[in-house]
Amino acid sequence: MTDSIFSKIIRGEIPAHKLYEDDFVIAILDINPLSEGHTLVITKEPAETLDQLSDDHAGALGHALPRICRAIKKVTGCTSYNILQNNGSAAGQEVPHVHVHVIPCYPGRGTPVAGKPDKDNGPGLEKQWHPGTLTQEEALELGKQIKRLL
Ligand code: AMP
Repeated sequence: MTDSIFSKIIRGEIPAHKLYEDDFVIAILDINPLSEGHTLVITKEPAETLDQLSDDHAGALGHALPRICRAIKKVTGCTSYNILQNNGSAAGQEVPHVHVHVIPCYPGRGTPVAGKPDKDNGPGLEKQWHPGTLTQEEALELGKQIKRLL
């Protein structure tokens, strides 16, 4: 397993704007925020993707997240936010170390402008989904196979 930039931040070898830390996770401000308050909640366990995370770290991540979201909402005044968690390069993951993005939404704000301070960053995550369809047969077959492993 490679040593990610987040492992270096966890060990204090690289500076970061740390918001929270416990035995299992840290939360830092994203260095290139999509919007004001864009935060990364990072597991101390250096798993690359969520499916590789131990139950203890997964539980601690889930435990810390709502609390961190509440603090971000209170301070930024945002009323909506997205939770984003990328796994694997095809899914857009750039840092191969489990982290959850908390991205406040500010409807009506402009798009980010390079060189502007954080508060001038954009509206947040812009959702561009291309939904498909699911037939009864596909759902039953796929569901049967996945349920067998759970
Ligand atoms: P992902 O594409 O889900 O892997 O997201 C990686 C995120 O890490 C991006 O939003 C980057 O802006 C952020 N990032 C990378 N390096 C740093 C750093 N040194 N401090 C804070 N955030 C970082």
